[in-house]
Amino acid sequence: MEQRVLRFETQAGVRIYSLPVEVFSQFYANVYLVVADSTICLIDTGSGHGNSNRDLLTGFAALQDQWGEKLSLAEVNQIILTHAHIDHFGGLPFVRQFTQAQTAIHIADRRVITNYDGRLRFASKALSRFLRHAGVSAAQHQHLMGMYLQNKEAFQTAPIEQTFEDGDRLCDLFDVVYTPGHCPGQVCLRLDEVLFSADHILARTAPHLAPEMITPGTGLEHYIWGLQQVARLDGIALTLGGHEQPIENLPKRLEQIFASNQRKIERISDLLKAQPQTVAQLSASMYRGLQGYDELLGIEKVGAFVEYLYLRGYVRPVNIAPDDDDRDPINVVYELF
Ligand SMILES: [Zn+2]
Ligand SMILES: [Zn+2]
Repeated sequence: MEQRVLRFETQAGVRIYSLPVEVFSQFYANVYLVVADSTICLIDTGSGHGNSNRDLLTGFAALQDQWGEKLSLAEVNQIILTHAHIDHFGGLPFVRQFTQAQTAIHIADRRVITNYDGRLRFASKALSRFLRHAGVSAAQHQHLMGMYLQNKEAFQTAPIEQTFEDGDRLCDLFDVVYTPGHCPGQVCLRLDEVLFSADHILARTAPHLAPEMITPGTGLEHYIWGLQQVARLDGIALTLGGHEQPIENLPKRLEQIFASNQRKIERISDLLKAQPQTVAQLSASMYRGLQGYDELLGIEKVGAFVEYLYLRGYVRPVNIAPDDDDRDPINVVYELF
């Protein structure tokens, strides 16, 4: 599939280019270049893996060929990261070879980049605890953990010069809308009638969710709260996601996402009504035949939904003995409550 640079222009005349980069094999992300007066801002950087850096340079070359916009990475004077997932920040060390531009990210995600190894160790411990809680077998636990770590190649830590929070205005252009859930420091950026929705809202797919039990600031509760923050925005004519194509009708897309979440909640409730079970068993019923990394993502997603139902008091664990010691509960079976 040929990937082309797209161009948009806001009513105030700000130019936006969407540069497609292959961040993992056959998986693309959108890096955005925003050009307004003296600001030349890169939103996200790709993964730095595989073809990602090459595609970024190809995208800059295409700016001129396709759109007559003569700009290079050297002229970028601001970098904003929408969240600290590797497909969005992994290209940062590469980009910084060309420019001294300052890099900004939401404060909750800063340490993932400046203390990558420490955060990874902490997150993998928490994932291990969650998988035991979810009821995966010992062999499956080892397999899933191996896969998780295998996909986290060493990232060359990069400095972050600026952090921001909800409601901040960046470069006198972007208003920060804090939308945690998919990632603790996930933000959307509003530029007049355009919303950069990052991975929070995508045109076709639902973003990955994992339970807060693994990482605080993620989970379905936060994600729905973040959707409500976006639903309150008026006058968004164009939504540009971190992957996939632009979204023209944001309220309709939000409706679809709310409905899809509701369907998953109902499906889990039905399965638990039939029989109390663990997160791993629910995931096996809901996502039959998932292999490899997708299996891990499936279990995490179901974990996020079960946790949400638990937080709201709709489900409860049935097999945690009251006199259990301080060890984390394992193979937790849930029932409707
Ligand atoms: Zn992401
Ligand atoms: Zn992403």
